[in-house]
Amino acid sequence: MTVTVRFAPSPTGFLHIGNARPALFNWLYALKTGGSFVLRYDDTDLERSTAEFAAAIAEDLGWLGIAPDRVYRQSERIAAYDAAAERLKAAGLLYPCYETAEELERRRARARALGRPPVYDRAGLRLTPEERAALEAEGRKPHWRFLLPNHAGDPFSTVRTEESWQDLCRGEQAVDLASLSDPVLIRADGTYLYTLPSIVDDIEMGITHVIRGEDHVANTAVQLAIFAALGAKPPVFAHHNLLTTVSGEGLSKRKGALSLRSLREAGYEPLAVASLAVLTGTRHAIEPAESLAALAGQVELTDISRSAAKFNPDDLRPLNARLVHGLPFAAVSERLAALGIGGGAPFWDAVRANCETVADAQRWWQVVAGGEDMPVDAAPSPEDAEYLKLAAELLPAEPWDETTWGAWTGALKAQTGRKGKALFLPLRLALTGAAHGPDMKTFLPVIGRRSTVGRLP
Ligand code: GLU
Repeated sequence: MTVTVRFAPSPTGFLHIGNARPALFNWLYALKTGGSFVLRYDDTDLERSTAEFAAAIAEDLGWLGIAPDRVYRQSERIAAYDAAAERLKAAGLLYPCYETAEELERRRARARALGRPPVYDRAGLRLTPEERAALEAEGRKPHWRFLLPNHAGDPFSTVRTEESWQDLCRGEQAVDLASLSDPVLIRADGTYLYTLPSIVDDIEMGITHVIRGEDHVANTAVQLAIFAALGAKPPVFAHHNLLTTVSGEGLSKRKGALSLRSLREAGYEPLAVASLAVLTGTRHAIEPAESLAALAGQVELTDISRSAAKFNPDDLRPLNARLVHGLPFAAVSERLAALGIGGGAPFWDAVRANCETVADAQRWWQVVAGGEDMPVDAAPSPEDAEYLKLAAELLPAEPWDETTWGAWTGALKAQTGRKGKALFLPLRLALTGAAHGPDMKTFLPVIGRRSTVGRLP
């Protein structure tokens, strides 16, 4: 069996780090098993779905390193859902109901007041053809419910019916179908809720594994019953915990700050975002992964914890920094060029340990370039003017390499008796305009002799 997974976002907003989690768990599972990955836009909600959000989702997935093998739009597949709905109607498993939302709410409130579970009483199923015709003559349009298989022949007398599955994250799961209301599959305006299109697509697209957030656990029992009603073998299910803030708050799609685009624009590496999105709430420590393939090799669905995956957005910066410190020049050369940064590998190797994002290299490049734009956060004290004059006199001749800084400061130490901070800091301040920064051993040759002379009195 070839594994086929899917990621099924609604294109009603930008993907955030919480959406990256199911996207990545599916992608990593496909990577690990040599399976294929379907991107399926849940865009049956035509009012809220837009082509712009769909394009943004594809772009953001691409940035993370996810390249779908196939892409579908549910809005283009309505005929398939109609065909499945007709089959269910013909089998007597999809029935029309005419209650308004207010009527249903009143009934639920009454049931709760009586201490009964607020389960739909299947009143729609009792309607005679004449009663239906009368309601339709009033202008009422039916919504359609799926008749759950929770009875032994008489739908008005339900019996405990366990729907169970072996969840790849959560282990054995069971839900009593008699505790649920018959789900509405088609709205009164004829549009589909998420449930039926998702099942029809999972069947027709050959989805073998459904990996999604645990907010869908309750749907799964219902969906299993519908798979069976359509005569299809259900996929394997895995429900992972959801990313929440430290205080346990869910990440809603509309929270712009943690959108993948905003993280990208803030200069975060896709692998830092992916590592945090995947490893949070698992038994693994949160470390920057070398590649998605490495992450796929490391993480099993059974490693995911049963409690919430609490994460702190502030962890992203140090995680990103660790990743950036290890990036070879080849991995960043194009981005450096796009930022107008030169200096090649010697420059990058000198400054990367001082960059939390690749774009941070810009500051150090301005230092190398010198001139008007050179950022000066701190300058040497006037008391060090004589010392710096001497430093200019003792500046070694070219060629410069990694031994130059040691030779230079060694000579200064011998002549002045200075050591430690008194020896090094005035030089660093004069050359870089900052009290902290790259290792001068590698940075000095990058700045070069000519510029260095220009920065000394
Ligand atoms: N559009 C649904 C969601 O984003 C898909 C759920 C599923 O994977 O079945 O929650």
